[in-house]
Amino acid sequence: MEFCPKCGALLMMKKTKAGCPRCSYTAKGRINMMMKEEVREHVAVAVVNEKDEGEVHPITDFVCKKCKHKKSYFWIRQMRSGDEPESKFYKCVKCKNTVRVDD
Ligand SMILES: [Zn+2]
Ligand SMILES: [Zn+2]
Repeated sequence: MEFCPKCGALLMMKKTKAGCPRCSYTAKGRINMMMKEEVREHVAVAVVNEKDEGEVHPITDFVCKKCKHKKSYFWIRQMRSGDEPESKFYKCVKCKNTVRVDD
């Protein structure tokens, strides 16, 4: 932003040159009319909201006893005590039927 040295008015860009809108002053060169303001783009962050279980499990071949679908989510959960064997869980991709298989 530049101001007229004669009257102090804010200079405006005219056809080819900048000049004062109030008096006859004309700036010799171009003036910078741009406000130095960085435009920050809002970066949209996709939040995957897994409502189901809150976690994603790998899919494995496991025949659902309920609907005979051949694909199930698979995960292992260690029980509270270290002495107990870890349990395998299979959750049918189709009907969401979950079975627990102990070793
Ligand atoms: Zn002026
Ligand atoms: Zn099923």
